[in-house]
Amino acid sequence: MTAYRGPVFEMAVKQFEVIANYLGIPDDARPRLLLPKRSVTVSCPIHRDDGTTAVFEGYRVQHHLTLGPTKGGTRFASTVDLGEVAALAIWMSWKCALVGLPYGGAKGGINVDPSKLSKRELEALSRRYMQEMIPFVGPHTDVMAPDLGTNEQIMAWFMDTYSMYQGQTVTEIVTGKPVSAGGTLGRREATGRGVAHLVRRAADELKIRLNGATAVVQGFGNVGSVAALELHNMGVKVIAVSDHTGALYRPQGLDIPQLVRHAASQGSLDGYSNELALDPAEMLTMPCDVLVPAAMERVIDAEIAGKLRCRILAEGANGPTTPEADRILEGRQEGIFLIPDILCNSGGVVVSYFEWVQDLQRLFWEEEEVKRREYQLLDRAFELVLARSRRENIFNRTAAMAIGVERVRSAKETRGLFP
Ligand code: GLU
Repeated sequence: MTAYRGPVFEMAVKQFEVIANYLGIPDDARPRLLLPKRSVTVSCPIHRDDGTTAVFEGYRVQHHLTLGPTKGGTRFASTVDLGEVAALAIWMSWKCALVGLPYGGAKGGINVDPSKLSKRELEALSRRYMQEMIPFVGPHTDVMAPDLGTNEQIMAWFMDTYSMYQGQTVTEIVTGKPVSAGGTLGRREATGRGVAHLVRRAADELKIRLNGATAVVQGFGNVGSVAALELHNMGVKVIAVSDHTGALYRPQGLDIPQLVRHAASQGSLDGYSNELALDPAEMLTMPCDVLVPAAMERVIDAEIAGKLRCRILAEGANGPTTPEADRILEGRQEGIFLIPDILCNSGGVVVSYFEWVQDLQRLFWEEEEVKRREYQLLDRAFELVLARSRRENIFNRTAAMAIGVERVRSAKETRGLFP
């Protein structure tokens, strides 16, 4: 029995079971690896602008503390609940282990639609959430970062709130901060850049020329918009993009730099063009070379998996493909090259790690250095995943998760079980 519930948590459990069966992990060793170590639920009251009081529920889950502090983003969205946050924390663990970071996974969030709050209300909620988290987090315990619905500004408020309570500036309490407040160069672009870099590696493997190839990108936030721009700069025709307001399609390729400017100034893709509008439901199954789901989890289910017409599936989002869809993709004859989420979007946490290290050392790197080191870690993980999937003739997700789970398991075995 656990307190964690809901479809996203169940998905994380199913994925783990597939890997645990594959690795032959004994039944009695499984709960220790899978169940989150700690979690906390807090209520965050704020004054609304109209003078009333509102309370929002917040969560933070720390999955395991075996390899160092826990690490992971904070999500502000109306889908957030304890089960979703726990699943995302578990995925962070496999991700950090796969790319070799000295962290366990964590995740947090507030059940709120941030677009319904004024800037002042958002600041009040962000600060109250961090204040409630003070007994639970710390630069050597649990380090937050942005995720869906949060951004650099919110990280700056988190850092400031924590620091005010400590009586000194503690930049290393959160990553993804603005550069002006102790952030690192290259963090904002890190996840999208990493996605595009890994697409390039996959295209090389498949002998696909990216110049003139086509891509479809679902989600135009921090991950999707940067990935689209990087792909565009590599000569890829990004033929369709979408966000929560709708989708746009242009077979000759969209003007991505212009779309990025529009989204930055307007806050979304809304209002860019009526002529190019497309039914978002058609996005994922359009023929293309590269499909990048970079929005929410569970958007590719078994039905959609059978209809995908891409050659490379680059998972910018966390958990976009359900375990049922995985079985279909695994069995498809024509073969879709999967870059699994825990590899594909790991550039974000990799550069978060660099930010934390720079903050701890008070020594900052050039952007080129950040980028070079990011690609180095991604390349190493990509090669490990590919080698394993070829050697054992397994799906790329199975290979990536097997590496992540094995590393956590071996650290636990080496340390032993207390007491
Ligand atoms: N939220 C991001 C993720 O899911 C980044 C986490 C971090 O940088 O700690 O990987």
